[in-house]
Amino acid sequence: MTDTSNRKHSLVTRVAQALHVIEAETGAVVPSIQPAATYARDENYAVRKPYWYRRDGNQTTSQAEAIIAELENATESFLFASGMSACTAVIEHLPTGAHVVVPRVMYHGVLYQIQTYAKKGRISVSYYTAGNLDELAAAVKPGETRLVWVETPNNPNWEVTDIAAAAEIAHAAGAKLLTDCTATPPNMTRALDLGADFSFHSATKFLNGHSDCTAGVLSVKEVDQDWEDIYMVRKLHGTVLQSHDAWLLIRGMRTLFLRVEKSCKNAMAIARHFEGHQHVAAVLYPGLPSDPGHEVAKRQTDGQFGGMLSILIDGTEQNAIDVARFCEVFYPATSLGGVESLIEHRKTVSGEGFPVDARLLRLSAGIEDPDDLIYDLEQAIARAFS
Ligand SMILES: *Cc1c(COP(=O)(O)O)cnc(C)c1O
Repeated sequence: MTDTSNRKHSLVTRVAQALHVIEAETGAVVPSIQPAATYARDENYAVRKPYWYRRDGNQTTSQAEAIIAELENATESFLFASGMSACTAVIEHLPTGAHVVVPRVMYHGVLYQIQTYAKKGRISVSYYTAGNLDELAAAVKPGETRLVWVETPNNPNWEVTDIAAAAEIAHAAGAKLLTDCTATPPNMTRALDLGADFSFHSATKFLNGHSDCTAGVLSVKEVDQDWEDIYMVRKLHGTVLQSHDAWLLIRGMRTLFLRVEKSCKNAMAIARHFEGHQHVAAVLYPGLPSDPGHEVAKRQTDGQFGGMLSILIDGTEQNAIDVARFCEVFYPATSLGGVESLIEHRKTVSGEGFPVDARLLRLSAGIEDPDDLIYDLEQAIARAFS
C-alpha cells in the first residue's frame, strides 16, 4: 500500500486549486470578492482583525498573497496596485542618502523612478551591465550600499544574472538583494531560495496572464524592520491591490503552470526558427544554447527559459517598426506575459535617451499555435522588406 502520511500536495495542485480554500459560510470553492472600504467595530468597540479599513488590505487580496507566498516559498508577500507601486515602495523606504546598485539598462519605468529619486538627492546610484558580476562587484560599496537590484532575465536584451552569486556579493557588502524576475515567474524561478532578500514580480504579467489587471508583488523570507517600513509605505500611499483585481489575479494564477509552460515552448520555437534568418541580425533568448546566459538560465528557470525574447531586425529602424505594424496575430502592444502574443518596437516605447537598439523588437510569446506565430512574423518580415 502507498504510504500517504506526510505527503504534501505539489505546488501545481495547490495553485490550480487556489490553495483549496472553501468559504466557511457557503462552501463556495471560488473566493468571493470583498469590496468593503470599512469594517464595523465589534460589540466592545474593538477593531476587528485583520481588516478594519480597505487601505490596509482586504480578504481577497490576502488570498492572492497567500498563493504567491507559497509559489515563492516566502514568509510573507504584499500585493500592490501595480508593479511600479511595489518598486516605488522599496525605493521610498530607503533612508535618505542610501546607495543602490542597478543595471545600466533595465525595465525603463524602474530605472526612471530610481533616477528621479537620485536627482532629488534622496538616494545615490551606481550602475553595472546586466549579467556582469565583475561590474556588479565593483559597483557595490561595502558598508554603504543598501540595495542591489537584479532584473533577470533583463529587459529588453534578456541578459541573465546569477542570483546566488549576486546575493553573495550583496551580502558580503552588507546590502540586500532585490530580484525582478517578472519574465520568469516563481513557478520557474524561486529567487528567495537562491538568496534574494526581496523578490519582486509585476503580477500584471505572467502571474495574472490575461492582460486584465495591473498588480505588483513583493515577497520576503525574513520579516524585519525594512519589511515593516515597506508595508507602511503601501498603507500610507494607499497602493494596496484592490479586491476586484485580486480576484482576477487569483483566477489567472490557477492556470499559471499550464500557461507558462506553453509560452516558454512557443518562445523557444520562435527563437529557433528565426536564429540565422536572412532578415534577423540576432535572436536574444537565454533558451538558445548559443546565448551567453544559457547555462545559468537553465539552472535558474527550471530548464524552461521563459516566454520573452527579442529579435534584432537586419535592416533599418523603419524596417523593424514595419515588422511590428504588419503583424496580424501578434498585437502591437506593450506589456508581456498574457495568453495573447505581443510585439513591440522597444525604442519607440521607452522613449528618447533610453539605450536600446533601434532594430530591436520585443516579443511576448502567448499560448497560441506556434506555427501561426512564426508564420505571422514571416509574413510581416516579407512585407517590411518588399
Ligand atoms: C511590467 C514590469 C514592471 C512594472 O510593472 P507594472 O505592473 O507595469 O507597474 C517592472 N519590471 C518588469 C520587468 C516589468 O516587466
